[in-house]
Amino acid sequence: MAENQTVYDVIIAGAGMAGLSLLWQIRQSGLNHLQILVLDPDEKKVNDRTWSFWETEPGPFEHLVYRSWKEVRVTSAEGTVLDIPLGDYRYKTIRGIDLYRFMDRQIAEDPQTWRLTTTVLGVESRQNEVSVQTEDGAYRGKILFDSTYRLPLTDPQATHLLQHFLGYVIRTPRPAFHPERPDLMNFQVPETGDCRFMYILPFSETEALVEYTLFTEKLLEESAYADVLKDWIATHLGLTDFEILEREFGVIPMSDEPVNEFPFPHVIRIGTAGGYTNPSTGYTFRSTQKRIAQIVDQFSKTGQWRPTGPVRQARFDFYASVLLGVLAQRRTKASRVFWTLYTRNPIDRIFRFLDGESQIQEEARIMSSAPWFPFTASGWNVMVNTIKRHMPFL
Ligand SMILES: Cc1cc2nc3c(=O)[nH]c(=O)nc-3n(C[C@H](O)[C@H](O)[C@H](O)COP(=O)(O)OP(=O)(O)OC[C@H]3O[C@@H](n4cnc5c(N)ncnc54)[C@H](O)[C@@H]3O)c2cc1C
Repeated sequence: MAENQTVYDVIIAGAGMAGLSLLWQIRQSGLNHLQILVLDPDEKKVNDRTWSFWETEPGPFEHLVYRSWKEVRVTSAEGTVLDIPLGDYRYKTIRGIDLYRFMDRQIAEDPQTWRLTTTVLGVESRQNEVSVQTEDGAYRGKILFDSTYRLPLTDPQATHLLQHFLGYVIRTPRPAFHPERPDLMNFQVPETGDCRFMYILPFSETEALVEYTLFTEKLLEESAYADVLKDWIATHLGLTDFEILEREFGVIPMSDEPVNEFPFPHVIRIGTAGGYTNPSTGYTFRSTQKRIAQIVDQFSKTGQWRPTGPVRQARFDFYASVLLGVLAQRRTKASRVFWTLYTRNPIDRIFRFLDGESQIQEEARIMSSAPWFPFTASGWNVMVNTIKRHMPFL
């Protein structure tokens, strides 16, 4: 296969959320001289997803924030409502299409960035560079950031769930939503023993993303999501005559399988491929912005891309594994787990905890507020599995 002789400073495989965030943060930090090649077969012309996240400060894509809320709602399986003011936090949403279009314009105006519509087929790591094989020939780079790697998710000592959801952006003929607060988790869905809830992002009184979300091992038939969604909208919003403006289907791996962020010399995996997804929630957007800021900062200061610390401190991996285990092994009702978490802790403590930014005392409080037996049993299980992974001869 013909190899292009240019040696790019950076090759980015995958122009999705992580790849485009990296490109944007590199340029925002003033590293304008770097020659960057971006590879993705998908031209990203549709709104294939919506990223929501919480933060206290403006983020790198603040200008693209579509909606921002100061309050969220959680509803128990019995219908008890908890409205939670977010204090310094804001819950924000960015539409995929807005980020893709914005970055398209940036790339078009940037003489040092090239984007090719092609599929990456393989990578060869050499002494001082990588060679990236694509459908259109091979490209050389000093470093490859790879967001295309698919996690294997086969480790028998790990817990694996899938977060899967079907959402409709609907327009209703009369007011049906509270635009001032999204529903993070509404557990008033048919009870099945696993974790299922409705997630609603209201864009106005008459327009919202209504999403049926599940944390389970297997996907459903497509009609099963749609049936519950339509029933729920009819029962809880009293509507059958709504218009579907957009449809969002997604699957996010929720797994505590160890991820290799630095698999070969000159290759760094980013995004979901780099282990940035929180195994117990599926949230990835903000952790990606944070990790990429560390990567770019490291390069600006040292000329090396590889950051020193891990994506999350080990103890946060442990907590996430425990929560994931409670959900996967159905040790108690998921609705009870989350309801307890939200009613017994201030929201800023929960957000810091999920972001891996809390103090040990706060973590102890969260743990002591959780249903005792299921969490202790799951914690024990995680420890046994960790020992087995490191000492397979036992
Ligand atoms: C529908 C949906 C909604 C989500 N909502 C949220 C949310 O609200 N909040 C949150 O924090 N997280 C959310 N996530 C999780 C996560 O933030 C997203 O999946 C996010 O897009 C992950 O970024 P990424 O760059 O790792 O992967 P992607 O954004 O999927 O980017 C990977 C890119 O690689 C390209 N690619 C794949 N194979 C190849 C190849 N061989 N060669 C070249 N390119 C290739 C793909 O075309 C794609 O563009 C959501 C996920 C989905 C699927």
